[in-house]
Amino acid sequence: MSRDLHAQTLTELAAGLERGDFTSVELTEDLLGRIDSHNATLNAFVTVTAERALAAAKSADEARVAGKAGVLNGLPLVHKDIFCTRDVLTTCGSRMLENFISPYDATIVERLAGAGAVVLGKTNMDEFAMGSSNETSYFGPVKNPWDLECSPGGSSGGSAAAVAARLTPAATGTDTGGSIRQPAALTGTVGLKPTYGRVSRYGMIAFASSLDQAGVITRSSADAALLLGVMAGFDERDSTSLDHPVPDYTAALSGSVKGLRVGVVRQHFDEGLDERTGTAVREALAVLEANGAVLTEVDMPNLDLSVPTYYVVAPAECSSNLSRFDGVRFGRRAENPEDLLDLYCRSRGEGFGAEVKRRIMTGTYVLSAGYYDAYYLKAQQVRHLIADDFHRAFENVDVIAGPTAPTPAFKLGDKTDDPITMYLNDIYTIGANLAGLPGLSTPCGFVDGLPVGLHLVAPHWGEETLLRCAHQYEQLTDWHMICPEDFS
Ligand code: GLN
Repeated sequence: MSRDLHAQTLTELAAGLERGDFTSVELTEDLLGRIDSHNATLNAFVTVTAERALAAAKSADEARVAGKAGVLNGLPLVHKDIFCTRDVLTTCGSRMLENFISPYDATIVERLAGAGAVVLGKTNMDEFAMGSSNETSYFGPVKNPWDLECSPGGSSGGSAAAVAARLTPAATGTDTGGSIRQPAALTGTVGLKPTYGRVSRYGMIAFASSLDQAGVITRSSADAALLLGVMAGFDERDSTSLDHPVPDYTAALSGSVKGLRVGVVRQHFDEGLDERTGTAVREALAVLEANGAVLTEVDMPNLDLSVPTYYVVAPAECSSNLSRFDGVRFGRRAENPEDLLDLYCRSRGEGFGAEVKRRIMTGTYVLSAGYYDAYYLKAQQVRHLIADDFHRAFENVDVIAGPTAPTPAFKLGDKTDDPITMYLNDIYTIGANLAGLPGLSTPCGFVDGLPVGLHLVAPHWGEETLLRCAHQYEQLTDWHMICPEDFS
């Protein structure tokens, strides 16, 4: 007798479908039932696409019978509501796009569907992906399945909560400063942010274009490898997509960590890190070491500058990207405007929430003629220094490991009045975005019943190393297999 379908990972479900243990329609019905029972509690979904999912599952089952099954044939997943999905609501967590039905599919939506995946729905997120707690969503906060009073992290909090609560085996996400990895850490799931340019951004609503990257949240690194293989690769519709060969990520999982040079950043364990989170991470490092990895201390002197640098670069890019939402070209339009200026002002004033406005104002300020050199240009220079810290470290190590977030999940409402404390949640993840590097978070323990994540960063195109290291760690521990009690 096989385990409950919802308890299985994507890889296990793929094998079950292949063997004919169950059909995609049965699996899809099972998960839609769970979403129905649990979503009112979690608020993880903005849209559930039940009818479309069942139709896609039926086609997948037929394709399998006809011997035409794709790599992900019949496997369910969900998309963060930042990815355009044809004929389906795509809100980006904002009132601005409350009624936006996308006329086209994002490249990754298209590729995953092309491989046979079944989309169950679209997940809640911080508005325009700006946030670390899911509390900036127009659709209300998402609850953390480990403790309903806590945040699941953000901005891909709906995706992370849905995977953690076993409402879906996998979800897409986006990561501009940590939005895949931090919610993965806070919900006990695996989150992978690929190298900048590895996965197409076409059809992914832009926040900060030089930092945004699409990735996945799953229950295991093997599942992340399976999905990345389908999503990755050149796309001529994204000018920053790179034409770099896509390896067999699943094949890369095998092999041990013996001899793997793991860099431990001295500054990661300075003040600011919750003590017991630090202990869980050090124990994870010890597991790697006991299995042959070689730990070396590395120095990242400019790490402290990553949060301030990000909060100049990201708002600058967002102020420019979000200028298109003016009620004329894109986005909600205010009713009965007095004149054109009133139309612009009220459409934007009504459509955007407080955090988005704060970022647009900061961004406009740092790009203004008198302050461009002092802030924006300076931030770009510091961005290089941070990238140089990584490049220097990677002369001696294959991967950098440390905590994903400074604390486990925090209570909803705890940090909303203090943007700086909220921003510091991404202190360990932002560097990888500034330098365009791939990063992954995998569960490595608990503090007071709340999950903790181990963060790994590799050189550009080093996804295979990340996935191998995390997969091997997951073979040696079972943190990633533990399910929140109320959702087992
Ligand atoms: N939490 C960070 C922010 O608020 C990162 C968000 C993200 O990665 N999309 O900008």
